[in-house]
Amino acid sequence: MNNVLRGLIFNEQVSLTIIDCTEIAQEAYRLHLLKGAEGHTFVRALCFGAYLSACLKERQGQVSAEIKSNRLHVSVSGGYHLRVRGAFEPFFEDLEGFGEGTITVIRDDGYSRPFVGLCELTGGTPDQDFSQYFKVSEQLPTHVETCVETDEKGEVSYAGIVAVQPLPFAEESVLKNLPSGEELQALLARVKKEGLSAVKKEYALSALVERRAEYKCNCSREYLQGVLLSLGEAEMRKIIREDGAVRVHCHYCNTDYEFGEKDADEMFLKGK
Ligand SMILES: [Zn+2]
Repeated sequence: MNNVLRGLIFNEQVSLTIIDCTEIAQEAYRLHLLKGAEGHTFVRALCFGAYLSACLKERQGQVSAEIKSNRLHVSVSGGYHLRVRGAFEPFFEDLEGFGEGTITVIRDDGYSRPFVGLCELTGGTPDQDFSQYFKVSEQLPTHVETCVETDEKGEVSYAGIVAVQPLPFAEESVLKNLPSGEELQALLARVKKEGLSAVKKEYALSALVERRAEYKCNCSREYLQGVLLSLGEAEMRKIIREDGAVRVHCHYCNTDYEFGEKDADEMFLKGK
C-alpha cells in the first residue's frame, strides 16, 4: 500500500508531503531492538530521512542525514526509490530530543557534486531541528511535524511525518494562512485513523503523487565480498588465521556477517 502522498495546495503555491511511517518504524524497532523515548527519537529521524528521500527528483538520487550531538549519533539515508535505513547510537537512555550538536545532509543527484547542508541543532524538539535545517541550510522555510506512538507492549502503533513547504513565489496572503503545528498534528492523527485519503478530504491537492516507502538496508553478502576482495587475499587470510573469521556488522540492519576459510577459497580461487 502507498504510504507517501505529495501534492500542491493553496493554489499550487505550497508543497505538502505526508508519509505514514508506521511500517518503517516497526521494522526499525524490530531490527534495532528499540524501546522508550530513544526509540521515538530514532523514528523521528527516520521520518525525516523518508521525507528527504521523497523530495529527490532524480531516479539515481541518494540522500543521507547525520545528527551528531552530545547525546547521540544518528544517521539515516535513503534514495529516490524510497528505501530508507538508519543507524542509531544513543549515549544515554530515555533520550528525548537530539540535544546540542549538528545536523548534516548530503544529497547526491548523481550528476553534479553532492549538495552538503549543515545546521546547528536548536536544542529543542526534533521537529524544530528539522524545520530549522530547511530554513538555515536550504533557505526553504518548511514546517515539519512528526508523530510517534507506541502501545502498552512498547511496539509502534503509528508514526508519521508531514511537511509544508511554501514555494519561492508563494504570496504573502498564502504564507499568513499556512496550517499551524496543531493543525498538522491533527492531520497526522486523521491519517492514523483514516489512512492517506484523509489528506485528500482535507485539502484540494494538485500534482498529486502517491508512492511507497519502506525500511530496507542495501547490505548483502555479495556486496561485502566485494569489499573484502579489495582488502586482498593475504590480509583476509591473516584476519581469519588470527580471529577465526572476518566478522562484519551492519549498523543499519543490525546484521552480522562472517567470512571464513571456505569463503576466502571461493572468492580468491575463482579468479585464478
Ligand atoms: Zn544492513
